[in-house]
Amino acid sequence: MQKLSADNPALLKLVLALNGVAADSRAESLEFALDGEVWAAARVNPASPLRYVERDGAELISGLGAEIGVRRAAPPAYAARRNARGIELGKIAAMCGTYATVILRGGCSLASAGRTCALCRGRELTEAAGEVWPIEEVVDALRAAFDEGDAEFVHVVLGHFAADDGGVRELVPYLDAIHRHFDTIVAVTMHPPADHRAIDFAYASGVDAVCYSLEAPDAETMRARFPGRASFIGFDRYLDALRHATSVFPSGAIWSELMLDLGTPAALETVAAKLAAMGVIPLFGVSAPGAAALDSEQAAGIATKTFEAVNRANISLNWIRDISTSFTPLDARQLLADAPQLPMLHHLGSSRLGAMTTRSLARMRRRLRVRRVRASFDSSQL
Ligand code: SF4
Repeated sequence: MQKLSADNPALLKLVLALNGVAADSRAESLEFALDGEVWAAARVNPASPLRYVERDGAELISGLGAEIGVRRAAPPAYAARRNARGIELGKIAAMCGTYATVILRGGCSLASAGRTCALCRGRELTEAAGEVWPIEEVVDALRAAFDEGDAEFVHVVLGHFAADDGGVRELVPYLDAIHRHFDTIVAVTMHPPADHRAIDFAYASGVDAVCYSLEAPDAETMRARFPGRASFIGFDRYLDALRHATSVFPSGAIWSELMLDLGTPAALETVAAKLAAMGVIPLFGVSAPGAAALDSEQAAGIATKTFEAVNRANISLNWIRDISTSFTPLDARQLLADAPQLPMLHHLGSSRLGAMTTRSLARMRRRLRVRRVRASFDSSQL
């Protein structure tokens, strides 16, 4: 096992994701900017072998034989400010890495929400869904995130919409407003639409990157852990939608999150390799905080093999930087002593100049195909 050190921020990110961090804080989780522009989220866990301390003006994570200087990304001041309805702006647009994250209808992600909702448990119709914030409130909160936070990008996380388009029609007015007000890239995490024309439409309407998260490595695990999601949506719909998305979105802009604690290493490696071969970037999260002592060496092995599969498939890694809540192939690359060089664009991607380049490329690609996609969608009855 590699040793934790300041020179290995990706390993620290992985160990933080697996174990959380002990801290004198009432927050559920903390976020850190580590060396090498690595963003890391960690749930607050008093039993973690890692502890966050402030000492003599320095911020440190200590434990497991190391003491590493970090910078905690404290919630920006805007987050506690309330809008006219009395809602805290941070509830509408929260900062995660450099993503201003907007959660609509309760969102969906075991890794970032750390909970199991009614859909996965199979009680979709009996529990209230989360809020769908009014568009103008989302724009105001995002403006604060861009003005006062570290926001570069927007991440919209949709909960379950019981429609064949998975909620794309409800999403489109938000996309229009976001692109009208901000020069940014929009990533969307959502359940996969049953009708693939909605995937084309989402791209044409301004989704730059899309994430349909399998979370479980196979249909059997999905059925056992998420009986509702398995029966309402089903494992195959995720794979089918991801496959279709690779024919619509640019390389590197199709993601699927897998939970490191929801399957054996062999099952995770198999599904991650399959996703990479399809052109999808697997991201890794942890779903059951503190439930099981996950082996960081095994987790690192899964992640590095996944990086190699993504690299073999020649998928761009330019879109997956600054993600704090998932361990990405870009993070995993740092765990390899002899990691292959990345094309120049990846280096560009780690700077503001890179962010601008990514945005321009996204706009250009969309202009090239948007007319055809819109025309096809308009002629459909979706
Ligand atoms: S992963 Fe399942 S439980 Fe979690 S938010 Fe999504 S639908 Fe709900």
